[in-house]
Amino acid sequence: MFHVTRRHVLTGSAAALVGALHHVPRIGALTPSAGPPAAQLIEDLVAANRILSDQGVLDGYGHVSARHDRDPARFLMSRSLAPELVTAADIMEYGPDSEPVDPRGRASYLERVIHGEIYRARPDVRAVVHSHSPSVIPFGITGVPLRPLFHMSAFLADGAPVWDIRAAAGGNTDMLVRTPALGRALAQALGPRAVALMRGHGVVTVGGGLPLVVFRSVYTEVNARLQAQAMGLGGRVTYLSPEEAKRAEASVAGTVGRPWELWKRKLRRDP
Ligand code: MN
Repeated sequence: MFHVTRRHVLTGSAAALVGALHHVPRIGALTPSAGPPAAQLIEDLVAANRILSDQGVLDGYGHVSARHDRDPARFLMSRSLAPELVTAADIMEYGPDSEPVDPRGRASYLERVIHGEIYRARPDVRAVVHSHSPSVIPFGITGVPLRPLFHMSAFLADGAPVWDIRAAAGGNTDMLVRTPALGRALAQALGPRAVALMRGHGVVTVGGGLPLVVFRSVYTEVNARLQAQAMGLGGRVTYLSPEEAKRAEASVAGTVGRPWELWKRKLRRDP
């Protein structure tokens, strides 16, 4: 009986310790690192930050992340910094709770839960972009659906739902996705799709890797700009049919590396 009790106590203590570690992740230093990510992944993440700035998707705000290659529960993202300025030294590891593992005094983006909760909800996703991509904003506030009007944006065929933070939070907020609950609600609105719009704020784009999420982010912005122009002409806009979109996406999928290499090369020409 004593033995059982003692075992129970030990087990209980161990469980309490694990529980304590699990439930105080805000003290990031207690969370062990998954180890160094592949150098190529860091290089691509830095490139993605700068490409998306070059392409007008990110400005001083917004962020791009990649799922950690050593632990799918974790992700990599810059410290709080304008994306165009990001270098390898700025990339930090984030745990499943979207808290930095080893911040060393470095600030994190306020909306990092967007990334953590999407990675949790979407095992197929390996890269996430959150931006305030300007041409996309009107489609989040007018009820006009963003739809694919050319082959490059065929990935929009499943729709780009509009997520309203006021409805999710049950009242007024500062519009920022600051809590895991709001991040989860946004991930739920995204569902299995590539893109979700955030009313009065921006957009999230996801993909199976950094080149794809960059491609989708750039062409979401281009499609939004072209769709507003097309609608402004006043005629009836013809969008891709679901079958056209399906075929176009399959064809374009194999070519995503081409603009990725081009966009990377342009960065190297910069001073
Ligand atoms: Mn934002």
